[in-house]
Amino acid sequence: MPDHILTVNAGSSSVKFQVFKAEGEALELDLKAQIDGIGTQAKIRATDANGAIVADRALAQTEAGNVAEALDTTAKWLRERYDVEPAAIGHRVVHGGPKYSRPVFVDANVLADLERFVPLAPLHQPNNLAPIRTILERYPDRPQVACFDTAFHHEHSAVAKHFALPEQFFAEGVRRYGFHGLSYEYIAERLKDVAPDYARARVIVAHLGSGASMCALFEGRSVESTMGFTALDGLPMGTRPGQIDPGVVLYLFAQKRMDVDAVQRFLYNECGLRGLSGISNDVRELERSSEPAAAFALEYFVYRVALYAGTLAAALGGVDAFVFTAGIGENSASIRAKVAKKLAWLGAALDSAANAKHATTISRSDSRVALYVIPTDEELMIARHTLALLAGRKVPS
Ligand code: AMP
Repeated sequence: MPDHILTVNAGSSSVKFQVFKAEGEALELDLKAQIDGIGTQAKIRATDANGAIVADRALAQTEAGNVAEALDTTAKWLRERYDVEPAAIGHRVVHGGPKYSRPVFVDANVLADLERFVPLAPLHQPNNLAPIRTILERYPDRPQVACFDTAFHHEHSAVAKHFALPEQFFAEGVRRYGFHGLSYEYIAERLKDVAPDYARARVIVAHLGSGASMCALFEGRSVESTMGFTALDGLPMGTRPGQIDPGVVLYLFAQKRMDVDAVQRFLYNECGLRGLSGISNDVRELERSSEPAAAFALEYFVYRVALYAGTLAAALGGVDAFVFTAGIGENSASIRAKVAKKLAWLGAALDSAANAKHATTISRSDSRVALYVIPTDEELMIARHTLALLAGRKVPS
């Protein structure tokens, strides 16, 4: 019988699960499920490997009143309906702190370590750790693996990792970490198949989703990221502003008399495309809108992607390829076209027909920068790491 790997990506009120069948080193997606509205009006929606809906129903308060109950409900459902008992569970964990440079098996000691990084990611880390703790309590023998969004950036140079602050802050963990590492690691792997000539070249990857960042890859390794200490930095996002002058934060405290919680809520939930447009955080809606503010928010987004392309090109000493990925990068031909136009000074030339079809290669043959659209798959990356640790090996990277 094949082994199954369960991946868990837990947020504050939603948990995403995927079940992979493992035969040897090969992984095949079996099921995707998402529980939304945990603690309020929870519902589960699940699809099989072909995208057919296999569950779509509201859950009772007792089935998903909190993340632990949602996990129990999922485990029961997998056992009863699919006869699946996962051999191991892989978790997305946003922060590995200064310590963890690769995925690890989690026991009580590692969990205590990861809890120390909660102040570095107060909105994400507690949600990521909650299901690990629950499973550790209920099924202490079930192998669990934590896969970190920061790990892929761990080898950044000292100048890339530092802020210009007194050194004691760096020692405390106030560093530029970089996030979306599982996505970038997956893309670096995919490049070996999709564009082997560029897999070891100077590549900028733009992960443009509701969270957005960009990464500079050299020889398949991350050398720079637009995100720093938290997932607030860098590009504007659905509801986060991206890079702003820290003086603005001082202004919020001093002039607007906001407290820490209010500033945190504001920066994570009320800014970015939503704040700027006053209409929506969703690029689809902004693209459909005829309001000038919607067009301006999109123009701002494109402008910042292009600005950061310049920054990352400087880190790499030039750029050979540029990859678009995640929700916006994979689906918005219009955003890609506008970004490509702004990269003309780097030698980028878009093939408009290929771009409109969302082809994998969207640059013309005379483009000095190869342009690609490569769908990301963070869950598969988690499953690969989990399976590899289970088999006692490292994922080659
Ligand atoms: P992600 O976080 O990677 O799932 O990306 C989610 C975001 O991708 C959504 O909020 C949308 O802004 C954007 N998106 C998804 N589909 C499309 C589409 N067809 N066209 C434009 N933007 C899209």
